[in-house]
Amino acid sequence: MTALLQVEDLRVAYGKIEAVKGISFTVEAGQVVTLIGTNGAGKTTTLRTLSGLLKPIGGQILFEGKPLTNIPAHKIVSLGLAHSPEGRHIFPRLTITENLLLGAYLRNDKAGIEKDVQRAYDLFPILGERRKQAAGTLSGGEQQMLAMGRALMSQPKLLMLDEPSMGLSPIMMQKIMQTIVELKAQGTTILLVEQNAQAALSLADQGHVMEVGKIVLSGTGQNLLHDESVRKAYLGED
Ligand code: ATP
Repeated sequence: MTALLQVEDLRVAYGKIEAVKGISFTVEAGQVVTLIGTNGAGKTTTLRTLSGLLKPIGGQILFEGKPLTNIPAHKIVSLGLAHSPEGRHIFPRLTITENLLLGAYLRNDKAGIEKDVQRAYDLFPILGERRKQAAGTLSGGEQQMLAMGRALMSQPKLLMLDEPSMGLSPIMMQKIMQTIVELKAQGTTILLVEQNAQAALSLADQGHVMEVGKIVLSGTGQNLLHDESVRKAYLGED
């Protein structure tokens, strides 16, 4: 069986600076796969390239066995890849419901869209309670929920989350991580970029450690969680 996503020897540069230096990994349908690593390792660059926002200088991206390179970003969404970006990018003046509906802009099945808006409210009740309020009034963690809910509105085959725990309180972070587990149980395939290695590896089927543009270590989430070098470098142990 072909993997849902296959990344082969991917290289991405900003001008002369190569930020991603030939990485390879796969995501199987139904899995949660995480990319962890410190600031500047190339994780966000990788997600932005998968979304079609950056063009690679080398390598292959195959989604359901078909090449994604050179396909424009909006087409990539319609193929089933959704991206909840770092820093959230919600529309602060629009209501919560309007923000969610923007995630469904490629769909025209009214009943299905309404059902998925309701699903977002079920996942994150606070969004339902405040559905008519401007999204800019939400807290950071609630905005993160909205960004995730909006990405889900395109009914993605692969949901890519960039640092969903960034800047969140421990309780909010726990809530976001629980939601990822819930989404996985519902059959959503997730590619999760995180600096919080402990949280990400605890729930991931597969993990890859990135350092300066390369994958330096791969394994199951549990194996990496217990790996001595990972514990020293990313989990703050001596
Ligand atoms: P972070 O968690 O801080 O976002 P990251 O692993 O996601 O880190 P990237 O944001 O992908 O890392 O950055 C990888 C490298 O590319 C870094 O050295 C960064 O400075 C550089 N970089 C990122 N965006 C640009 C840009 N627009 N122009 C030039 N260099 C960039």
